[in-house]
Amino acid sequence: MKISLSAFLFCLLSFAAFAQPDRWQQAVKYEMEVDMDVQKNQYTGTQKLSYTNNSPDTLDRLFYHLYYNAFQPNSMMDVRSRTIADPDRRVGDRINNLKSDEIGYLKVNSLTLDGKALDYEHVGTILEVNLSEPILPNSTVTLDMKFEGQVPLQIRRAGRDNEEGVRYSMSQWYPKLANYDYQGWHANPYIGREFYGNWGDFDVKITIDKSYVLGGTGYVQNPNQVGHGYEEEGQKVKSPRGKTLTWHFHAPKVHDFMWAADPNYTHDKIEMDNGVTVHHLYIKNEETEENWSKLKEYTPAAIEFMSEHFGEYPYKQYSVIQGGDGGMEYPMSTLITGHRSLGSLVGVMIHELAHSWFHGVLASNEALHPWMDEGFTSYASNLAMNELFAETPSDDPQRGSYRGYFRLVQSGLEEPLSTHADHYHINAAYGAASYNKGAVFLEQLGYIIGKENRDQGMLKYWDTWQFKHPNPNDVIRVMEKQSGLELDWYKEYWVYTTKTIDYAVNSVDDYNGGKSKITLERKGKMPMPIDLVITYQDGSEELVYLPLVIMRGEKPEEEGMPTRIKTQRWPWTNPTIEVTIDRPKSDIKSVEIDPSGRMADVDRENNRLEL
Ligand SMILES: [Zn+2]
Repeated sequence: MKISLSAFLFCLLSFAAFAQPDRWQQAVKYEMEVDMDVQKNQYTGTQKLSYTNNSPDTLDRLFYHLYYNAFQPNSMMDVRSRTIADPDRRVGDRINNLKSDEIGYLKVNSLTLDGKALDYEHVGTILEVNLSEPILPNSTVTLDMKFEGQVPLQIRRAGRDNEEGVRYSMSQWYPKLANYDYQGWHANPYIGREFYGNWGDFDVKITIDKSYVLGGTGYVQNPNQVGHGYEEEGQKVKSPRGKTLTWHFHAPKVHDFMWAADPNYTHDKIEMDNGVTVHHLYIKNEETEENWSKLKEYTPAAIEFMSEHFGEYPYKQYSVIQGGDGGMEYPMSTLITGHRSLGSLVGVMIHELAHSWFHGVLASNEALHPWMDEGFTSYASNLAMNELFAETPSDDPQRGSYRGYFRLVQSGLEEPLSTHADHYHINAAYGAASYNKGAVFLEQLGYIIGKENRDQGMLKYWDTWQFKHPNPNDVIRVMEKQSGLELDWYKEYWVYTTKTIDYAVNSVDDYNGGKSKITLERKGKMPMPIDLVITYQDGSEELVYLPLVIMRGEKPEEEGMPTRIKTQRWPWTNPTIEVTIDRPKSDIKSVEIDPSGRMADVDRENNRLEL
């Protein structure tokens, strides 16, 4: 093939522009076989884990999560749930009251590395493993394990017999290797929230009573054997003899594997034009029938909306499954409770589906940066819900997130977004920060760099960081490259502090014969660029733009905003600034800072001066 030098250089350059960041990560390949006893709610399993150490470090320890051990009296989750000032009502003191056949447990009965037995200790929800021979950089080892578990009565997320009667919500159910990354091990005990895992392939065989219908993370590999609506069109189901059935799932490029099972699931299958198959699994009764059948329209529409605005959904399957205790996201799937109004059902589905982008594929370390998952997911699902469900779409779909953030500020209980998810002092501060202040991060970013840059930036973020666990700096760098602006100050203030924004219009005065002088003041501790809109007596409007000096540039003019007549840089050190306008004070009707309301100004009363 002939190729000109300039075309060759162009290829090189465009490759460089879209080059993936070079951050190593560990690789896993799980093969698991489990046997579920539906009488005892106990299971036994084997796990063959191929683990590749791509780090530059020699590993002499390993850690596995054993999440189900949290559901035992006096576990860290139990004590935390009973002693926190504002307990999660789903947990409260329920763990402390579990009987022996209601607790959860996950025990490792044997573990070998390349055939040699390993030394290990169960420490609550973590298995600590000491390696006699270390795992060297750039090497792959095989870890073989036998384990057994008991499914806890459903308390939080996972468990059996939830309040809507779903038998098994099997999330966090297997010994899962903790993640080791450029920040070291992340062997967080299971206290209550947020997850982080290694990317890899899961091959899972589940043997269970034949009457059960399963769904979850992976693609069913033996559809014509398991049937229950998974069989290929026109194929006769060839169910093996005996009381049990083995379901074979395969999930490539995921960081977790969830499954759910109930003998009474109804299974709806929807084929989308883009090749994605949507599965809905729910127990059909008068509380679910009507709304879950309407969901068939909304789930595919939501996948399309998210793919258009946040990046193409990379899997060929998504399953919405009734189970759990509210809504919880898993790779390629979600568990949601099903007895809901249509609005609530669609809302929770859209929220959990939107997690597929931020939890499922970008997969930031949620323990350290919960706002990059919950906040971005809330932002995206607010947009999707507004577009797909609202009868009259709002022009301000993030309003609820701003309100939540302002309430948090007023409560005096705010902690910085950089707080580890488990270590927020109270649940409410975690929730309002991660969900609301996290969503405001993106909407307000649109104010700082312009909506168009923010939207393009989100697609670039997806292209650059999918399957790579981005951190706060990574998202800021993408937005800096997209906008050409320096944004480190935004991350530093918004993420690492609880400093708030408050700007005021102090005065408008006649100035120098025929001109006027507007004085603005930064009252809050956090600096921001200012859109100042001047409305004249004749009803016309003009915009004065005051970017921060430290931004080293300007956002482009935004659609729908008045004409920008002047740009004046504001040094953040200066508490006040004077803006002169070439028209007399008598021409001016009002002056307002950020009429769009996208800047999270905690006191908007002083943003507008009426003359
Ligand atoms: Zn969420």
